[in-house]
Amino acid sequence: MSGASFSVIDRGRSILPRTFDQAGSSPTEPHQKARLAQLQLAARGRDAGGILELALTGDMAGRTAVVSSFGAESAVLLHLVATIDPNTPILFLNTGKLFGETLRYRDRLQDELGLGDIRSLAPGLEERLRLDPEGSLWSRDTDACCDFRKVIPLRRALEGFDAQITGRKRFQTNARAEMQAVEYFDGRFRFNPLAEWTLVDLEAYVDEHKLPRHPLVEDGYPSIGCMPCTRRIQSGEGYRAGRWAGLDKDECGIHGVDGEGI
Ligand code: SF4
Repeated sequence: MSGASFSVIDRGRSILPRTFDQAGSSPTEPHQKARLAQLQLAARGRDAGGILELALTGDMAGRTAVVSSFGAESAVLLHLVATIDPNTPILFLNTGKLFGETLRYRDRLQDELGLGDIRSLAPGLEERLRLDPEGSLWSRDTDACCDFRKVIPLRRALEGFDAQITGRKRFQTNARAEMQAVEYFDGRFRFNPLAEWTLVDLEAYVDEHKLPRHPLVEDGYPSIGCMPCTRRIQSGEGYRAGRWAGLDKDECGIHGVDGEGI
């Protein structure tokens, strides 16, 4: 990837790079700039299914992967993707710190939607032993923990793809408020077919298609990540208040240097 450099959190402890420090979110090659403009133009006026057609068919067929946490809202995107091609690669970050409910929900969605190519990503054993031998790094340095459990494995997995699809929505965080349906990030195109969806839209879709819900949602978890870093929200709290509660952090870093993430 030309022009990329690393930012290292803590050289002394040999923590891996937190994020790739990109020159920006614009492609550098003229043909990539032209293709991005073409894709953004083609995405205008399309609904989520139409944007996914753009990402998964034609000259993008076989070149695009979906990134999914199998979290509270994941069923909507996965259902839409399965409608077009159930064998689309789904990249799932199995950090080793997830709720058992999330793993079972993944298995249920795999069966019910007929997903044929879910790829579980995780740091290797050597990395785990070297960087987090006791499995408690999350309690000391959440950024470093997210880096080696999420950011690095996802970056490796995406190397074979020209584009990724995310389920991010503009309403989720301030950093996502200006998100475009098609972007360029970290050397590849990024499609955000649900960018304009609201919680009401998501609920309506789940109801209409009778999709299974993540079991933790009704237990007070509207946004679900790793178990140590997710708690129930209290009445009146924000939608993502249960994620990294008490820390100045609301993103894991896998989607960008500008703070976008699952
Ligand atoms: S969300 Fe928490 S446990 Fe999961 S990778 Fe990030 S810091 Fe580690």
